[in-house]
Amino acid sequence: MSATLVSNLGWFPASWRGRPARQMPAYADEMLLNAVEARLSGAGPVVACEDAALLRSAMAELAQGRGFLLQGGDCAESFDDPVAEQVAGIAGLFDAMSERLKPALNGPLIEVARIAGQFAKPRSAHEETRDGVTLPAYRGDIVNGIEFEAAVRKADPQRMLRAHMQSVGTAASLSAARATGAPIFTSHEALLLPYEEPLTRRDSAGRWWATSGHMLWLGDRTRQVDGAHVEYLRGIENVVGVKCGPSLTADELMHLVNRLDPLNSDGKLVLIGRFGARKIGELLPPLMRALKSEGRAVVWTIDPMHGNTSMTGKRKVRRLPDILAEIDAFFAIARSEGVHGGGVHLEMSALDVTECLGGRGPASIDELEKNWLTACDPRLNRAQAIDLATHVAELLG
Ligand code: PEP
Ligand code: MN
Repeated sequence: MSATLVSNLGWFPASWRGRPARQMPAYADEMLLNAVEARLSGAGPVVACEDAALLRSAMAELAQGRGFLLQGGDCAESFDDPVAEQVAGIAGLFDAMSERLKPALNGPLIEVARIAGQFAKPRSAHEETRDGVTLPAYRGDIVNGIEFEAAVRKADPQRMLRAHMQSVGTAASLSAARATGAPIFTSHEALLLPYEEPLTRRDSAGRWWATSGHMLWLGDRTRQVDGAHVEYLRGIENVVGVKCGPSLTADELMHLVNRLDPLNSDGKLVLIGRFGARKIGELLPPLMRALKSEGRAVVWTIDPMHGNTSMTGKRKVRRLPDILAEIDAFFAIARSEGVHGGGVHLEMSALDVTECLGGRGPASIDELEKNWLTACDPRLNRAQAIDLATHVAELLG
């Protein structure tokens, strides 16, 4: 029996359905949902299994301590995105950042965008109230619409078909943007399982791959070891990211890693810390130690965005100094723990948005309104992202 068959014993693309699933929309029309799922199961893949396998091999080298993962893009894509422009923008931003990072690296740079499927959002609050009216929260364009209207906030399964179509176009444009040179791979949070399941396909060797994107990640709100999302992700061969937030204990992380990658295979798991600048010093070292002492072949990266978010009035606020402080702490901790600091995971835009405070961005809360375009969380603008890459290069060099 091959190693693959042993690693996902008892698994099949729908096996998550027997498990508790958090953050899933309630679809009122089950027949319509079933019809959409059937349509998706006959639809073309967003990415080819072979290309997801290429990323997996590249990540195996990173798991050996060579190279760097630059992952970034929108918090949420939108159906209103001008795809050609968006792809050209993000490819140009990856070019500019990689130009700064590459000279500082020992090993290859792996570039992975949050794109071509990053449409579903987990929410802390399931409802939103405005002027005494309460409606379901916006869960991303693949689920419902952002406008505060009852009909629009209703979860509509047909949105999955539109998300799939846009993702196919986006992924094709992205691969054309690097017709020569190293590819930019695609990634998104594996949150909406009725979308993921029908796009899960077998390769010629009988292995299962998610074809919705090259890399999928497990969100911090859906990482319950016995939950549906972990069940789905344990069966696919793609590179799987795991968001590691402040409430994750070393014990839980060991269970999670054993469940997702029982064979301890190089390049399967990327652990993405997102603790916040003030907490990382206390929380990250025990997690790194636990995995290292068990000889686990994981890649560690840092998401310095999600743990450094506060609310001011109606806006989420992120400050560049906090973002840089968490990055500095991450690489310092990795070094002192004898772990390879494997990369960064960012929310960033190629546009001159005013969503994060500091550096070559807005200097005050009032200035956030100038060009606030995100459908969800605040992103670094182009200049802030490039400066961050320069900063990381200095840290590594
Ligand atoms: C995200 O990456 O947009 C996100 C929701 O992250 P987390 O699961 O880490 O909160
Ligand atoms: Mn986000």
